[in-house]
Amino acid sequence: MDAPHDTGRRELGDALRHGHPAVVSHVRARHGPGLDEAVGRLVEPFGGWTSIVAPGERVAVKVNLLRAAPPEKAVTTHPETLGCVLRALKAAGTEPFVADSPGGRNGPAKVARAYKLSGIADVCAAEGVQIVDVEDDRSVLAAPEGRLYRSFAIGRAFKDADAVVQVGVLKTHQLMRLTGGVKLTYGVVPGLAKAHLHVKAQRREDFADMLLDLHLALRPRFTIIDGILAMEGQGPGSGSPRELGSLFAARDCLALDAALADRTAHPRERVYTVAASARRGLLDLADPYRVAGDPIEPDTGFTPVQKDLQVLLPPALHRLARKLVTARPRLVDADACIRCNECAAICGTRAIVMDPLPRFDDSACVRCFACTEVCPTAAIDNVPPLPMRLFPPRR
Ligand code: SF4
Ligand code: SF4
Repeated sequence: MDAPHDTGRRELGDALRHGHPAVVSHVRARHGPGLDEAVGRLVEPFGGWTSIVAPGERVAVKVNLLRAAPPEKAVTTHPETLGCVLRALKAAGTEPFVADSPGGRNGPAKVARAYKLSGIADVCAAEGVQIVDVEDDRSVLAAPEGRLYRSFAIGRAFKDADAVVQVGVLKTHQLMRLTGGVKLTYGVVPGLAKAHLHVKAQRREDFADMLLDLHLALRPRFTIIDGILAMEGQGPGSGSPRELGSLFAARDCLALDAALADRTAHPRERVYTVAASARRGLLDLADPYRVAGDPIEPDTGFTPVQKDLQVLLPPALHRLARKLVTARPRLVDADACIRCNECAAICGTRAIVMDPLPRFDDSACVRCFACTEVCPTAAIDNVPPLPMRLFPPRR
């Protein structure tokens, strides 16, 4: 990715080194009439789209297409917000295209269904924007400064684009607590290649480091996170929609994720990607961003993911906690299981056998929760042990 207007490359981390936090734009908004204007206001603090992209650039618009789900479920990027971004990018003289890789095994029919049901296919058709399949055409992205990984297999279209602009949805995440700008980048890794990364990065801290390695290597130029309709609870696939009425944007996703933590009333240091950024000296947890636009008020009623004791116990007890008290994937609704095999296919440790319904081998399971993310019917869920259900921990 060669980017002549790549101010994002300069700002990521530079702002902190120069003694001032990066800018995060926040605008109160709703879907429907007026959204184009709201997205315009969101981008104003960065000089507008013409300061972010240049005419003639081919821009990969990285959406969140976790699985096939309608917009009102808040699983995928909202098509109205995406439409606003596509129109703005075209007006700025760029050639945008849309891409992402859903979780699990991705045949063309499955990917097409996800684009269709999410409403993204229709908005792309209306705007005359191409959807690029990244499943089978891969390239290697070098991550020379990676802590955990020094290279990643990613969809070639992302690497070859002049710029990557991310448009995601604000969601909880069972491993990282929140799906923000850093986690959103994970979708550039095609289908089942994600499973291998999960296996090598079993601890949450390692997984966050891996995500940061990938994000810093790709360096998306700009990111918008739609929290107009967010997801709370058991995200990113099976949580509940929650109206927050917030749109966020930043060049620097490390700062952006800290702002998302604030809006959803998560202590910053408890969102794993935010904590990983701070550990590397790329984010000051005490002063992580400067807000442009509307003030960011915490939504204290926002429901976080159900936690397990691993996050509350001292590190020396993590291994024991992991074995005895962490949540495990379980079939919670046998009637809902359509025997699609998606959970078994994404499991990198082969801990799931279809018999004929999924059966879990706890000794092989590394609690990455990828299976529950990809289940299209919420037939499986991460079930905490009894003490956790009886005495849920504090936020
Ligand atoms: S069974 Fe365990 S290891 Fe396999 S995908 Fe599910 S959580 Fe991950
Ligand atoms: S549990 Fe979900 S992902 Fe697994 S086979 Fe059943 S429906 Fe498919």
